[in-house]
This record gives sequence, C-alpha cells and structure tokens, in this order.
Amino acid sequence: MQNDPMQPFYDLITLLIQVSLSFVAVMVVILVIKAFTNKKRGENRVHKKNKPHLTAASVNEDKLKNLTIGLLQKIEWKNFENVCCTYFVERGLTSKTTKVGADGGVDIELFKKGDDNPTMIAQCKAYASKVGVKDVREFYGVIAASDVSSGIFMTTSDFTKDALGFAEKTSPALQLCSGDRFIKLIGKLPQASQDKLLAVATKGDYKIPSCANCDVKMVIRNGKRGAFYGCRNYPQCRATMKYKI
Ligand SMILES: [Zn+2]
Repeated sequence: MQNDPMQPFYDLITLLIQVSLSFVAVMVVILVIKAFTNKKRGENRVHKKNKPHLTAASVNEDKLKNLTIGLLQKIEWKNFENVCCTYFVERGLTSKTTKVGADGGVDIELFKKGDDNPTMIAQCKAYASKVGVKDVREFYGVIAASDVSSGIFMTTSDFTKDALGFAEKTSPALQLCSGDRFIKLIGKLPQASQDKLLAVATKGDYKIPSCANCDVKMVIRNGKRGAFYGCRNYPQCRATMKYKI
C-alpha cells in the first residue's frame, strides 16, 4: 500500500485538534472553579454587610444599660449632636440647633425655660482625634460674637494641651467637655434620663455618618486614596467624610 503523501499533514491537523480540545477543557475547569469561589466570596460579602453592629438591635446584644465612652466614640456626629441636645433638655433647658457645618460641627443654642434669649451656646464635635486649639479658638470667637456670656465645647474624644491651656485663659466664658467628662455628667442624671440618652445615641444606623448638607446617611465609596464616605445624592451633593473603621 502506497503511503498517502498528505498523511503527515492529517496527523498534524489531528494533533492540533487534540491540543485545542484539551485547552478548552482546562479553561472550562478553571472557569467553573472561579465562578464557584466568586459565589462563595459574594456570600461572605453579604454576610459582612449584614453584621448586626450596624443596627440598633445590637445594643440589646451588647446588653448596655448606660452610655459608655466606648459607645460614645462609635456613634456618628449627628447622633452625638442629638445626645448633646437631649442631655441639655434632660437638664431642664431648651435646645435649638443653629448651624450644621460641613465637617459635622454643630452649634446649639440653649435657653432657660420661657426665655427668648439663649443663656449659653454649645458646639459638638464627634472627633476621633483630640480637638486642637484652632477649633477651640474659633468657637471662642463664636461666643464673643454672640449675645451669650458662655459656651461649652463638647467632644467624644479629648482636647490637646494647647486647647486646654487656651480654655483656662478664657474661663469661665469657654468650657471644654471631653467624652470622659460627658459620660460622668450623664451618670449623674436620673436613670430614666440615662435610658433616653442611650436610646438617642443608638438610634438607626448609629455608626454611619449623615451628610451635613442633605441629612441622609452616607455610603462607603472607593477612591484613588482608599475608602471614604460619600453622599447618597452624588453628583448633586459632593460632600465626603473620612472613612473610619
Ligand atoms: Zn449630601
């Protein structure tokens, strides 16, 4: 039998088909494995999202009876403002929010019952780091420009040495209230008032910051420099806040 001159060519074609088929088979296996792992990761993501610490219900799990410094430092600025307002109301004053700053700084006017003119103003800042002398000096400027004789700067954290020194010089017009001191003051209130303050502190998604412009909860976004909080109403509102874990 004479050899087909085309035989080597056919052999080559068969080999190529076999190699291609093996390649396709390997690719299919890889894709199936990838799809499976992605699905698992997706499940984990949902799991993380649903972590109970973002809901008020988790407070019952924590079994907290009163506000603690740990909790105070976890709540967002808007809830902190509400805690401050409620605190003054429980102390028998009437409070009125006068300004909401882009950085979450808030001024509250405090009135004695029945008075038309405020007796005092307060500024609340839920800061992760110590409040510096710049912020305290600015607030002193607000007090000086207003009709009230004194103001109190309230924070969830503490004050720098310079800020404390400045307040000493301007006392009693300017008073500083750190997170620790605030917790002690709250502890002196009747239990019913303390219960109310805990409820105000942990209302809603109390760890997610609100947009200072729109009063809606912000969302976590990813930028070139990492994660940050952005407004839900972007691009109409371009407000952002630092993302802290
Ligand atoms: Zn906004």
